[in-house]
Amino acid sequence: MNMESIVSLCKRRGFLFQASEIYGGLNGFWDYGPLGVELKRNVKEAWWQDMVQRHDDLSQLPGSPSPFSMTGIDSTIIQHPQIWKCSGHYDLFCDHMQTCRQCKKLVRSDHIPDMLRNADWFQSFVESCCIKRPDGTVEFLSPAAFDWARARKLGRRLAPGLALVRNPELTLSWLAEDLQNDPTLPSRLSMTELLQYMATLQKKQTGFQSPCPHCGGDLTDPREFNLMFKTTVGALGDEDDTAYLRPETAQGIFVNFKNVIDSTRYRLPLGIAQVGKSFRNEITPRNFTFRSREFEQMECEFFCHPDSSAEWYRYWRDRRMQWYRDLGIAGDRLRLREHEPEELSHYSTGTADIEYAFPFLADGEFGELEGIAHRGDFDLRSHMEGKLDEKSRPLQVQLGPDGKPKWRGSGKDLSYRDDLTNEKYIPHVIEPSAGADRATLAFICEAFSEDQAPDEDGKMQTRSVLKFHPRLAPVKAAVFPLVKKDGMPEMAKEIYLALKKEFNVFYDEKAAVGRRYRRQDEIGTPYCITVDGQSLTDGTVTIRDRDTLEQVRIKADDCLATVRQKIGG
Ligand code: ATP
Repeated sequence: MNMESIVSLCKRRGFLFQASEIYGGLNGFWDYGPLGVELKRNVKEAWWQDMVQRHDDLSQLPGSPSPFSMTGIDSTIIQHPQIWKCSGHYDLFCDHMQTCRQCKKLVRSDHIPDMLRNADWFQSFVESCCIKRPDGTVEFLSPAAFDWARARKLGRRLAPGLALVRNPELTLSWLAEDLQNDPTLPSRLSMTELLQYMATLQKKQTGFQSPCPHCGGDLTDPREFNLMFKTTVGALGDEDDTAYLRPETAQGIFVNFKNVIDSTRYRLPLGIAQVGKSFRNEITPRNFTFRSREFEQMECEFFCHPDSSAEWYRYWRDRRMQWYRDLGIAGDRLRLREHEPEELSHYSTGTADIEYAFPFLADGEFGELEGIAHRGDFDLRSHMEGKLDEKSRPLQVQLGPDGKPKWRGSGKDLSYRDDLTNEKYIPHVIEPSAGADRATLAFICEAFSEDQAPDEDGKMQTRSVLKFHPRLAPVKAAVFPLVKKDGMPEMAKEIYLALKKEFNVFYDEKAAVGRRYRRQDEIGTPYCITVDGQSLTDGTVTIRDRDTLEQVRIKADDCLATVRQKIGG
């Protein structure tokens, strides 16, 4: 699987475009084209149907501790600023970022090692100037480095900002000086240390520098950067009018928990779901839509009794994993990774990530599709009492210098009274939180394949195909007349209109039928229905399966029922 072919197919066939492309694009923003919008809607629709609309409130589902209810809400993107203070996003939703003094680009500190590994200049430098020893240390070839920086001009082209390239003599002299003082140094030098030497012009003044993954230039020290987009509500634009675009949909659910309970007859355990846009001013948006600045989340907050919360956590972790498997990500590119105890927030007794081995990642690396977290009563209590201190145990309200709550809560009682037992408690929460764009991208990557299929002359040709699960496929069926005459188009159009009432279907009468099949394979259409000479005499048509290439004859009148039954879900 090759990411370049996937990106090029997505653009060529109208799945994804760079946002504002005609003005040069805006980094971290993506537009979905005619097929992309259908695919992403189908992903969100499958999530909503499986989580909310088709949920059975009455039965005890396999693996669940008891029957439970599911419902949904749709809250606003801009909410009261106090929400983000009590949720912790105002104080804590920060990344550390560094700026390159040469090319001025910003990079996120924790992304640097990974970006460096993938940088062209780094690979070229390692190939030309280093021999890696099996223990991870490096043998450095100083004359080759000089050559790389100057004579062969590779360095100048690939890493114009690197100190070694700007001034090889001075840069290499620091290493030579240290070697003189400590002859054992070469046997201990790791790649990171070597790179710091190569990125440092003035070691005595600045200490060691780290290289920028883009140009090799030297990076500033890390600074904190809040990821929330600021905006202003109202005309005055004072500091008091500052608001934020939501960085997650979850808080809209917590602050509406009481409204939902009071306005409905739902009892706990209850899940409240929401799908919608979230915004994060990511420092280094990259990897296609994987890390965007505007994206969609599909989140559920599941409220339950504290005593059964551990069991519910396990239920949701396994059920969410199964959802991706059922929709076609079945192989070992999908994995469930339970967080180590030291990775967990203090209040969480369990967190797991569902991860996918995206093709843009190095071999053996996985990217997060969804997190399932046991959040205890942290969120509801923070919105009641004031922001809790995550480090306290048991959790206590975080106090400011004046001894008062640092961020005041709403003061509203968000506890729940069980009307059967009369027990009153603050529910615990299990949060399955998924990204619609990351899921869509994973479904595209997983579906993409190239195989061999016969063309119209029976010759085997390489075929590029998106093997989407039929529920997710943007176009469910295509209808073709074999040729554009003898009443075939009329019959095909009738079938098209009948199917169109229920599904997104495509009619195509242009080009040889083999080419038409191929165009549909490339966008993942699972079924192609063809009206041929025989159709006009006996009222049957062929239906071709994208994956098996099998064609069977069915009655034209049965097309709708057949497609409906095949798509299922
Ligand atoms: P990461 O560590 O990759 O930044 P996260 O742990 O901060 O992700 P959460 O806050 O748990 O992510 O958000 C839940 C889900 O929202 C993620 O699993 C992911 O699918 C999606 N998501 C988060 N940030 C982005 C983004 N910048 N672009 C696209 N999807 C995102």
